[in-house]
Amino acid sequence: MTQSEWLVKLPLLQSVVEKKEVLWCNPSIESVKAGLLKTRLSKDDITDASHRLEKFAPYLAKVFPETNQGIIESPLTPIPKMKQELETAYAIDIPGRLLLKQDNALPISGSIKARGGIYEVLKHAETLALDNELLDHTMDYSQFDSPTFRALFAKHKIAVGSTGNLGLSIGIMSAKLGFDVTVHMSADAKQWKKDLLRSKGVHVVEYIDDYSKAVEEGRRQAEADPSCHFVDDENSTDLFMGYAVAGERVAAQLKEQNIAVDEAHPLFVYLPCGVGGGPGGVAFGLKLALGDHVHCFFAEPTHSPCMMIGMMTGMHDQVSVTDFGLDNKTAADGLAVGTASAFVGKTMEPFLTGCYTVEDQTLFTLLKKLADSEDIWLEPSALAGMTGPVQVIQSKLPLADSKDTTHLVWGTGGNMVPEDEMKDYYNYMMK
Ligand SMILES: *Cc1c(COP(=O)(O)O)cnc(C)c1O
Repeated sequence: MTQSEWLVKLPLLQSVVEKKEVLWCNPSIESVKAGLLKTRLSKDDITDASHRLEKFAPYLAKVFPETNQGIIESPLTPIPKMKQELETAYAIDIPGRLLLKQDNALPISGSIKARGGIYEVLKHAETLALDNELLDHTMDYSQFDSPTFRALFAKHKIAVGSTGNLGLSIGIMSAKLGFDVTVHMSADAKQWKKDLLRSKGVHVVEYIDDYSKAVEEGRRQAEADPSCHFVDDENSTDLFMGYAVAGERVAAQLKEQNIAVDEAHPLFVYLPCGVGGGPGGVAFGLKLALGDHVHCFFAEPTHSPCMMIGMMTGMHDQVSVTDFGLDNKTAADGLAVGTASAFVGKTMEPFLTGCYTVEDQTLFTLLKKLADSEDIWLEPSALAGMTGPVQVIQSKLPLADSKDTTHLVWGTGGNMVPEDEMKDYYNYMMK
């Protein structure tokens, strides 16, 4: 179909083409029970990932003492002052509760990628250790911090293509285990990220071409080398499951804070979305842990709404934002993705409540408001979730404006950003 044919079929696309901030509700949403019949993924896969992370906790506690006894988790923080800021800025009432999931404060790599990225590297290390008979299942995993294990991993390579947080997560974790790790980056990747990775012994390869060329080249090199494991941001089930473990963790945190999730007390969750793996995995985990009264939304820049377009049209990775005249240019690092993951889009079809878009200027305005009101510092991408409550209330979604509703904004990153860089974000003005 041509663009004009799509516009007739899906009138909302006109606003997307005009780069307006819009909310799309997914007509294919189903109950969790019905949705699970449409995917090969199950709760057992999440439980398996969760158990593996527990087994690795003694190792992580040893090599990353900043973790909570080896568990990589972040606080769930009420942000009432920010709620007032939103109410004033948008001239609306938000009667429910507003929480921030602070993945900006995740240990080791300061972003949501510390969930999926680290999990995938650990799982790969476990597989190699088992294949080489260094491990039996009764052994304490703190053994991974030993010359024998490092000598094994030094003979194996890990590669990933990323301009940002995924590269940091994979690079830091792989180097710590002793792998020969390479991060393929486009030339426009931030200098501090390259410096940081190199300081940890990670190989950084830069490409003059854009990001997708860097990924493609990384994948090509990795496929030619049987000792190399390529972390595939678009198709990896392991990454997805690492993210999905967040569901049961959040369920436990809500319980601790005496926050109910049921028909009368729905939970609305807003997740910044790039290629889709992070928000998709987390949303999948939340739906399985908390059920049908969790309503998950993906948030994307107005210039890069790849998941929204992919899901609306049902074309997933067969369509790009550039097919609709959008330039895929955004200051939101990691969200400048033109084509969404088909694996995530298809998996999430029965589980996702909707997608909405946000302008770059809004991200910076809210970054400053959150820093001023709550002294919490997120990177620009991580603010995409913050307009979620406004979007669902303005669109009059059922119970969005109930005092018994909890709005949970997923703050996907921030702590790795150097202070002077953060100061520039804080003072950012759009040209
Ligand atoms: C990676 C990332 C996202 C989006 O995750 P995807 O898996 O690419 O969809 C959002 N925010 C931040 C800060 C990220 O690093």
